Amino acid sequence: MNRTKILSSLKETPQVSVLIVGAGINGIGTFRDLALNGVDVLLIDRGDFCSGASAASSHMAHGGIRYLENGEFRLVREAVKERNRMIQNAPHIVKPLPTTIPIFKYFSGILNAPLKFMGWLDKPSERGSVIIKLGLMMYDAYTGAQRTVPRHKFYSRAESLKRWDKLNTAIVNTAVYYDGLISNPERLALEIMLDAEADNPHARALNYVSLVSGFGKRVILRDELTDEAFEIEPKLVINAAGPWIDFANHSLGVTTKFIGGTKGSHLVLNHPELRAAIGDNEFFFENKDGRIVLIFPLQDRVLIGTSDIKIDHPDDARCTDEEVDYFLELTARVFPTIKVTRDHIVFAFSGVRPLASSKAKTTGQYSRDHHIEVLSGDWTNLAFPVYSLVGGKWTSFRAFSEEVTDKSLQFLGLKRNKGTQDLPIGGGRNYPRTTEEREKYINGLAAWTGLSRQRLETLFERYGARTETIAEFMNLAADAPLDSLTGYSRRELLFVIQHEKAEHLDDLLLRRTMLAMLGKLSRDAIIECAMLMADALHWSLERRNAEAERALRLLADRHRVRL
Ligand SMILES: Cc1cc2nc3c(=O)[nH]c(=O)nc-3n(C[C@H](O)[C@H](O)[C@H](O)COP(=O)(O)OP(=O)(O)OC[C@H]3O[C@@H](n4cnc5c(N)ncnc54)[C@H](O)[C@@H]3O)c2cc1C
Repeated sequence: MNRTKILSSLKETPQVSVLIVGAGINGIGTFRDLALNGVDVLLIDRGDFCSGASAASSHMAHGGIRYLENGEFRLVREAVKERNRMIQNAPHIVKPLPTTIPIFKYFSGILNAPLKFMGWLDKPSERGSVIIKLGLMMYDAYTGAQRTVPRHKFYSRAESLKRWDKLNTAIVNTAVYYDGLISNPERLALEIMLDAEADNPHARALNYVSLVSGFGKRVILRDELTDEAFEIEPKLVINAAGPWIDFANHSLGVTTKFIGGTKGSHLVLNHPELRAAIGDNEFFFENKDGRIVLIFPLQDRVLIGTSDIKIDHPDDARCTDEEVDYFLELTARVFPTIKVTRDHIVFAFSGVRPLASSKAKTTGQYSRDHHIEVLSGDWTNLAFPVYSLVGGKWTSFRAFSEEVTDKSLQFLGLKRNKGTQDLPIGGGRNYPRTTEEREKYINGLAAWTGLSRQRLETLFERYGARTETIAEFMNLAADAPLDSLTGYSRRELLFVIQHEKAEHLDDLLLRRTMLAMLGKLSRDAIIECAMLMADALHWSLERRNAEAERALRLLADRHRVRL
């Protein structure tokens, strides 16, 4: 259902069973599960879908080997299982990723795990081979029978330097294990949301709608595109506002302190030498003080992250100069002969982990697990309960959403009919998995649409098995490549604008495509995309210019991109 229809349907009938505030991965995951089980559910976000913490992740579907040290065994076991499910259900976006740990010591850290578990050690410190081996053995064991990725291996110093000839020669050995790479988290979240809407006409999702206030049985929302306020009457509110949970509860008149978020930043580099040196591997290693750093292949770019810094207000999260220096220094520790400078940075991003507030002395020790906080009763002045979704990793979103859905169904007096464990996502449905199946799929489409194999391969990398629908749309009218962007055509972007709820130009540049993140934009490209969107959405000249200005401002202010 399109935005206008959803808004008018809500004005006609303001009653909904469930209102979800926040369309990050946890809000979207819960939206899908409730929709699948026939619930009428409204999902809102004050910004675009997947534009908060869920757009700031390190792109890893992982169990979090490091969390074993904090004693978070339940979480790691669950996350490893969920990682496997993501690879299975969204194979077009989540792929196995060989992860290499360069190790500089044999024994350091061996006492850390038990000491930390007992709460006697507060400071992080660098881990050596022995503790890493123990961790990886546990990690492999958690994968169990659902083996979507190979087991870990250790390589001697000589073997390691043969495989990665730019690696620091001071290593004692390397360990290689597998996790998952979520190549495009924003698209994955969007596809889950679109699946839910397609599955249930009573599941409605709106970006750019804010929670304003609540009292009694009413909640006031505001359409951020028109500034118009309207009322709805939910039986249950799910507060999935991530790092903004306490602010959203405050809007409902309830004071909470559930979140103690930490900021994490990343850089994207255009550095062919470093990209060639890492190959298809993630390098996952530690600073001397034990803080984790990763260097990561992201198409033809390199992703570097992340930091873990206490922050009071999530709106203030930016990648600072100090963080940039920190990342550049650490890269030099692992690849000392490769020169990396600020000139290689094409994009930066920063976000706040919605972690439960904690008394732990270091941010690395804050729990990464998730739970539901329930607010209900007369003291709230609300006629409906509010479930706040605290914590939760991208990787474990499905399991967390399942838990929230079960609780919500119970509250609504409904039974679960369907589950999401094996449910394919978007372009992962009917996905050709083997090389032969993929060849057949691409050849079939080439014969039917007349598009070149190369073009279809590109579309397939972006959209998986949705390529069929998109290619069909592209063929309905004359198409042409964009003048300022290679690899994109006008009708491809038109499809995305018309079918994927893009409202602002930056939705298209930052989240429906990876153009901004991969540093592929120029002023010309921004103007050409603005013109395309203006035609599709009937924007005035004034709006078109304002959208281009807004995109440029956002790129400069939040992403260190000056065009
Ligand atoms: C730096 C960093 C690295 C990470 N790396 C990984 C990783 O590699 N792997 C992994 O599994 N996890 C990772 N995570 C964790 C994971 O990304 C987050 O835990 C998860 O995305 C949280 O999702 P969420 O839906 O709870 O919150 P969010 O994605 O923040 O969603 C909350 C939404 O609520 C909206 N909102 C707020 N207030 C209102 C309001 N008043 N009205 C309407 N909407 C509102 C916001 O706009 C936002 O979109 C990382 C997190 C960070 C920050």
